[in-house]
Amino acid sequence: MPVVKAECGRRDRGGEITYTGVDPDGELRNCPDCGCEVAVDPQAGDGGKVIHVEAE
Ligand SMILES: [Zn+2]
Repeated sequence: MPVVKAECGRRDRGGEITYTGVDPDGELRNCPDCGCEVAVDPQAGDGGKVIHVEAE
């Protein structure tokens, strides 16, 4: 299963977040840093992408 690494841009503390066992077609997770819903896409770009979904 793909592994996608990303940083949360919504918090100052930085640091890399690792999402393991991501569905190859992408899936929704919760960002452990800010609690926001994120779309994890292992096929996007180089090594995958994590996009914060706007809750409002
Ligand atoms: Zn976040």
